[in-house]
Amino acid sequence: MIKIAILGSTGSIGTQTLDIVRKNKDLEVVGIAAGSNIAMLEEQIREFHPRLAAVGDEEKAAELRVRVKDTDCKVAGGMDGLLELAAMKESQILVTAIVGMIGIRPTIEGMKAGKDIALANKETLVTAGHIIMPLAKEYGVRILPVDSEHSAIFQALNGEEHKTIDKLLITASGGPFRGKKTKDLEHIQVEDALKHPNWAMGQKITIDSATLVNKGLEVMEAKWLFGMDLNQIQVVVQPQSVIHSMVQFTDGSIIAQLGTPDMRLPIQYAIYGGTRRYLDGERLDFAKLGSITFENPDMETFRGLPLAMEAARAGGSMPTVFNAANEKAVALFLQRKIRFLDIYTIIEDAMERHEVVSNPTVEEILKIEQEIYKRIESRW
Ligand code: NAD
Ligand code: MG
Repeated sequence: MIKIAILGSTGSIGTQTLDIVRKNKDLEVVGIAAGSNIAMLEEQIREFHPRLAAVGDEEKAAELRVRVKDTDCKVAGGMDGLLELAAMKESQILVTAIVGMIGIRPTIEGMKAGKDIALANKETLVTAGHIIMPLAKEYGVRILPVDSEHSAIFQALNGEEHKTIDKLLITASGGPFRGKKTKDLEHIQVEDALKHPNWAMGQKITIDSATLVNKGLEVMEAKWLFGMDLNQIQVVVQPQSVIHSMVQFTDGSIIAQLGTPDMRLPIQYAIYGGTRRYLDGERLDFAKLGSITFENPDMETFRGLPLAMEAARAGGSMPTVFNAANEKAVALFLQRKIRFLDIYTIIEDAMERHEVVSNPTVEEILKIEQEIYKRIESRW
């Protein structure tokens, strides 16, 4: 039996993780956590019988406690609750399906308690990769990628030696606005940006896909996960989202992982520690597909990617600034307080004003995050 705890069980990755648990008799959910959706948490408690449920919002936690008092599930609240869930003794693997930098502390807590991490929460690795990766080594835990591109690379690297990797080719769909130019993006509405061509995901990552910030975060995520130099990572646009990423080796071979876009595959592959199990779902039909096409990303229009590369090259606290400014800008865009293109302006402005702190501690990272949030809130 593999016992798992899920941080962010009510979201897109969280609910798909539960779907994998439903289909596999050797998986057991021992803990779940979410921000505020207690109606869904209650349903999950009644279906999966976890021992612990954590709710980010303290008041909602109190409400949930009353709603499930007839069950054996303990309910915890706030950051302390998330930390308790991350370290709970019954679990072996922590699925980090929470969105944003709020995942940093629980992820670290989980590793310190010896949990393998099935990592979807890329913001944690982007901002604190220099802390997370050495900690994983120190505590002897694995960081198993859930992001489809990184899972594809993980699959392509199975049995290969690190020194034979020439470069990683991270594929991108190009998002819903591929082919458009800056002037076409001036009046983009929230609804347009939320229409991803190939994947159904949470709102924040869907906007990040439209700005190509997501691809920038994924480049940084890959750098940490696979110990690569930035100049060994290339983004290739592959609009059909059939090739999930590729690795080029020093002999010129390229190994790619293909399949229909279905996040349950990388989630399942991570939970089983990089081994395969049966998974239902549509299979790829090459004749029906017809062709797979490639192009370079449009870095002039979709500045999320070059800004991320700049932040990655600056290193230290700059990826935190990039990520925190983006998190706040996306929240404002979803609240219709700023325009789509303002997201780039906000990120760029935050980066320009920042003086890099090298090797920031978790406390420094979280302090910079709050400073960035405050400054953006006061100016927009
Ligand atoms: P989502 O918005 O659908 O779900 C987020 C989850 O986090 C929810 O369960 C929510 O309740 C929880 N959460 C948010 N704030 C919280 C708080 N303060 N306290 C406790 N819980 C809180 O997001 P998602 O699309 O599932 O993405 C989750 C992560 O996975 C992100 O980092 C994203 O970049 C990454 N990811 C997602 C996909 C995808 O297909 N959805 C693919 C690759 C990577
Ligand atoms: Mg991805």
